[in-house]
Amino acid sequence: MAEQPQVLGLKRSFGFGDRLGLATPGHLDAVKGSGFAPIFAQQSIREMRRTKREPVEVMRAAVEALKAERWADAWGADADHLQTEEDVQRTAREGFTFFTIDPSAHVHKTADELNDLELETAYQKLAATGAVQANQAFDLYLGKSFDLGEGARIDFEDRRALTRAVVKYGAALAHTKLMNGWIAKACAGRPFELEMSVDETPSPTSPLEHLFVGLELKRLGVKLVSLAPRFTGEFEKGIDYKGDLQVFEADYKRHVAIAKHCGPYKLSVHSGSDKFRIYPIVGRLSGELVHVKTAGTSYLEALRVAARADKPLFREIVGFCRGRYETDRATYHVSAKLGDVPAEPADAELERAYLEHDSGRQILHVTFGSVLGGESGTPPYKQRLLELLHKRADLYREVLRAHLGKHIKGLLAG
Ligand SMILES: [Zn+2]
Repeated sequence: MAEQPQVLGLKRSFGFGDRLGLATPGHLDAVKGSGFAPIFAQQSIREMRRTKREPVEVMRAAVEALKAERWADAWGADADHLQTEEDVQRTAREGFTFFTIDPSAHVHKTADELNDLELETAYQKLAATGAVQANQAFDLYLGKSFDLGEGARIDFEDRRALTRAVVKYGAALAHTKLMNGWIAKACAGRPFELEMSVDETPSPTSPLEHLFVGLELKRLGVKLVSLAPRFTGEFEKGIDYKGDLQVFEADYKRHVAIAKHCGPYKLSVHSGSDKFRIYPIVGRLSGELVHVKTAGTSYLEALRVAARADKPLFREIVGFCRGRYETDRATYHVSAKLGDVPAEPADAELERAYLEHDSGRQILHVTFGSVLGGESGTPPYKQRLLELLHKRADLYREVLRAHLGKHIKGLLAG
């Protein structure tokens, strides 16, 4: 029996975040027999802080459920969105096998808007910090052309585009290298795998920028199992992809070619919940080289159990979340407005209004920390939800199997 998480390697994989610690049975029903390697323990440091959970609890919840279910296949554990050495140590200690380095604090967020002079200044500033060597990127890449196979090629002909790539990602690359060292040290010889994620930045990662990042990581000796670029279009929380599918497909194809050229490594799709429009494209173009991360959608399925089995509790949570929404939305990519959804729908409309409607889903999605965090003054929803999910374990398992199963079917449909 596979009681401990393992490294999964270059095999298609699916990440099942579980903020309440009771979702693993439904998750394994969804993934069983699909050909996707599961990551059952997956939680970002930010989610742990908001739900007041510790890495040890996240791991224990998955391990115990898998033991009870006699799960025999390999599975992984993702210490998601790590930013500091302390994050690394806290999660490595508990046996996490998949480490997601999040250097987004070091990504230059407005690099796309700088003019030539500002770019040059930003470049000089970066060189002065030692994060990049003066001229090195130009010596290495300017004027070079990279054949990505199947007729695709990327040329570093444009000095401005290359400068922009260095300014945007240079410091993030240096931080990634540093974190790679911390992770290796904390794992002390045991196997682990690495992802780099820059998905939470305002502007998309262009193919040229991805190629620059991939080539630099190789040169710096950082070996990735997956990389999460910021793809084109909108990946809002809890709802489907917004954007032109033809544009997405053309862009995604280039990212796949770059991931093969620089790694090979998998492309990782973050905020991957409910992106049904793009799954067939992602599944078809990636082959084995794909990882999809989901988390909030399983929390919403827990709330679906309340919507069906304890309407008064669900109504109370909805009211509470509406009161929190304007505050809690600050760190999330969402567009819902409170006025989009009725505050007090009839019983028969409750589930549809808040779990099928985009705005309803987002209002419930971004407020999970307030509902589960147990700040003083917060009603004890976490306890009541956990009790309900224990009592209606069959229903929770069934809604998770159906909803996450739909994700995986979409990926296999391409
Ligand atoms: Zn992410």
